Amino acid sequence: MRTQYPQLVAPPAPVGTQIPGFYRMAIGDFELTVLLDGHDSLAPELLHGMSGSDMQRQLHQAFLPAKGPIHTAVNAFLVHTGQRLMLIDAGAATCFGPALGNVRNNLHSAGYRPEDIDTILLTHMHGDHVCGLADKGEAVFPGATVWVAKDEADYWLDEKNAAQAPEGLRIFYKLARDSLAPYMASGRFKTYSAGEILSSGVTPMPNPGHTPGHHGYLLTSQGQSLFVWGDIVHSHAVQFEHPEVSIEFDSDRKQAIATREKVFADVAKTRVLVAGMHLPFPGLGHVARERLGYRWVPVEFGQRFVETE
Ligand SMILES: [Zn+2]
Repeated sequence: MRTQYPQLVAPPAPVGTQIPGFYRMAIGDFELTVLLDGHDSLAPELLHGMSGSDMQRQLHQAFLPAKGPIHTAVNAFLVHTGQRLMLIDAGAATCFGPALGNVRNNLHSAGYRPEDIDTILLTHMHGDHVCGLADKGEAVFPGATVWVAKDEADYWLDEKNAAQAPEGLRIFYKLARDSLAPYMASGRFKTYSAGEILSSGVTPMPNPGHTPGHHGYLLTSQGQSLFVWGDIVHSHAVQFEHPEVSIEFDSDRKQAIATREKVFADVAKTRVLVAGMHLPFPGLGHVARERLGYRWVPVEFGQRFVETE
């Protein structure tokens, strides 16, 4: 006898969108909230230092289409220090297409308003890190002072550098200038020099190469640490195993590679938790040394506290 199933009613149409993302973790007394801005797709040709056939093999091994695109996340990091509410980088807003620009939505979802943020630290001044600062010429974070390394500001805000840049790269200078303009106009754009501590437990660490004044930030509270490394990695599928692969947007490829190799060696040795703007959301994890190259070990969902030995 055939089973009689009830007549099927068509379900609602598939929704197709993702839930906005944020992820929380404690670093000692600091509370970290990772805010997902979205993702971007990179053509494999943007990566340099690996032959086409090796790249295809590498991507295939990582279960990615051999001809790309290579997905890269964009994350921003909110840090509540007890005294301050700091945002590290501000995402891409509308500068790089509709798959990005969710920092503000996710900040709201995480329980904060843009006006609650008093300090913004920039790792560097590329558009996918600064465009989220301004909306149609107005400051998105009206109560915040924006900080960046002096050598980074000098590079991107220099009219002569902009004029001499190849035409395809000139847009980066404009995005940096436009995003910072409302903060500069109201005296809320500041630069720091090497070795300065910006707030108790927040130390900028120079990581030059990707841009001239690129910096990471070491956050330390109650003996626990997180190193927000900025743009040390754009493709986790390629660059952990092959730190010698650079990306088109590096200002100085040789220096960017040397910095990546040094940072990998340091964080693998110290076992510090790291956070990356372009690592898969929530962009938090550890770096393990392998026989050849390194391996990314992401945190598991729900791991709110840094493991202590
Ligand atoms: Zn960048």
